[in-house]
Amino acid sequence: HHTLGEHISDWDEQRAAFMAKNKGANQTNSGKARTLLVSGSQPKPCDNPMGDYFLLKNLKNKVDYCRLHDIDIFYNMAHMDLKMSGFWAKLPLLRKLLLSHPDVEWIWWMDSDAFFTDMKFELPMENYENYNMVVHGWYNMIYEKKSWIGLNTGSFLIRNCQWTLDILDAWAPFGPNGKPRTEAGKLFTKYLQGRPEFEADDQSALIYLLLSQREKWSEKTYLESSFFLHGYWVILVENFEKMMDKYHPGLGDERWPFVTHFVGCKPCHGSSGDYSAERCAKQMERAFNFADNQVLEAYGYVHPNLHTTAVTKLPGGSSSKTKSSADQPILRGGHLQQARERQSSC
Ligand code: UDP
Ligand code: MN
Repeated sequence: HHTLGEHISDWDEQRAAFMAKNKGANQTNSGKARTLLVSGSQPKPCDNPMGDYFLLKNLKNKVDYCRLHDIDIFYNMAHMDLKMSGFWAKLPLLRKLLLSHPDVEWIWWMDSDAFFTDMKFELPMENYENYNMVVHGWYNMIYEKKSWIGLNTGSFLIRNCQWTLDILDAWAPFGPNGKPRTEAGKLFTKYLQGRPEFEADDQSALIYLLLSQREKWSEKTYLESSFFLHGYWVILVENFEKMMDKYHPGLGDERWPFVTHFVGCKPCHGSSGDYSAERCAKQMERAFNFADNQVLEAYGYVHPNLHTTAVTKLPGGSSSKTKSSADQPILRGGHLQQARERQSSC
């Protein structure tokens, strides 16, 4: 059957050898586990003329978050494996990146329709020390209800190790275009609660693996639900103004969602999804601006409301809610400290 490439069984040894020669390579300047955020979109322009504009905004949003938190970023627009198209394209890509970047400790996949909406929140990596995969989901929804929405593969992390190569190998056979994908789709619809009839998707396949080979995969898979590693946009976007009144960035949960994911919107293809193109576009703009305010604030600007691309200057000094930090050095991930220590003389 279709595979992601030559089978590898000694990746942990190979990577350990690399790390022995390159001490500290898997850490950032600020001592965090080196993380690579990965996203992507199809090679061709979107059918919907506004689609590429939203892809650009989404990419800017990710670049901003990664810059602020010392995370590397890779954006893919190539179809590396023609049989693994659409939502399956991430699998061959993730495997390629794991193998090509032994210095990367974690790879974090995020869909192109998922926005960071808390620019301050950081993943509690210390909770994931004994895990190899982190995905937003709920134990009982998967293991008791067998729900096809028990987890969401729009935003998840995988550790660079043999276990991950193995789960990618187990995951991939449901993906190839044609018979494998249609047959697996039927199997998943029968097996999983609430799943409509359609071809196999990567999310259903992961849930199926957790259920059908539980002893192999569940122990090392962390189901995160204490904050929005993935947050369903419908329950969040109407509340942005309320959040801004009452709360502040850094919470990551329903008070200030970390990630807002536009599940069911097809920004690239117009209105072919479950929601109207207008509603999707309007709310994506709002989510972008909600996040962008947290970026612009540091430079002394803000969108006067979440519906406009325009910005206004923040009053100088400190406002009642948040200190305007315009003209202050922007600290991130220890870079400034390091630069000071290096004492460049220019
Ligand atoms: N994607 C990609 N290349 C493609 C198609 C999709 O990299 O050719 C990515 C894109 O980031 C998208 C994700 O795969 O958000 C999931 O694809 P899907 O079609 O399921 O879109 P979504 O469910 O996010 O609307
Ligand atoms: Mn998505």
